[in-house]
Amino acid sequence: MRVELADIISCENKEMSKQVEIELLSFDSKLGQFPVVKKAPFVMQFTNEENRRLLIQGETEVTIAIPCDRCLEEVEWNFPIVIEKEIDLTKSSEETAMDELSYMTGTSLDVDQLIFGEILVSWPMKVLCREDCKGICKRCGANLNLAECQCQKTELDPRMAAIQDIFSKFKEV
Ligand SMILES: [Zn+2]
Ligand SMILES: [Zn+2]
Repeated sequence: MRVELADIISCENKEMSKQVEIELLSFDSKLGQFPVVKKAPFVMQFTNEENRRLLIQGETEVTIAIPCDRCLEEVEWNFPIVIEKEIDLTKSSEETAMDELSYMTGTSLDVDQLIFGEILVSWPMKVLCREDCKGICKRCGANLNLAECQCQKTELDPRMAAIQDIFSKFKEV
């Protein structure tokens, strides 16, 4: 969603609150595409401070489904978002200063682009469904949180593997 801020920018000390909505359905980055599973409308506050600064404030929460690094099960990751932006209004050409910001086009604010940037900077280094996630077996692909697989057993104890080998040969005879 876009919010037009020309009125505020041109009017000294003007303030405005506005309920905004996040239209983002998924978070698409170099890392992949992650569905947004929870978001809600929230109120943003815009303040022109003596024609010197434009303050943009707001608080919300976005939940995104991210696969666990080990077992690939989706984890609902919560992003608390606190927006505290200050745009300098004293630059000679105010539009140029604002166009440097990815979420501003002229005097129009792109809420989704702003939220995208906030999520990007707090993107987790590591996502685990639980601290002790056992991951998936590299050999058979089984989710080891759900059940142990046979390959795991033979890997754990090479002597057992040898015995199993003998048994299987024995059966073949
Ligand atoms: Zn996991
Ligand atoms: Zn396995």
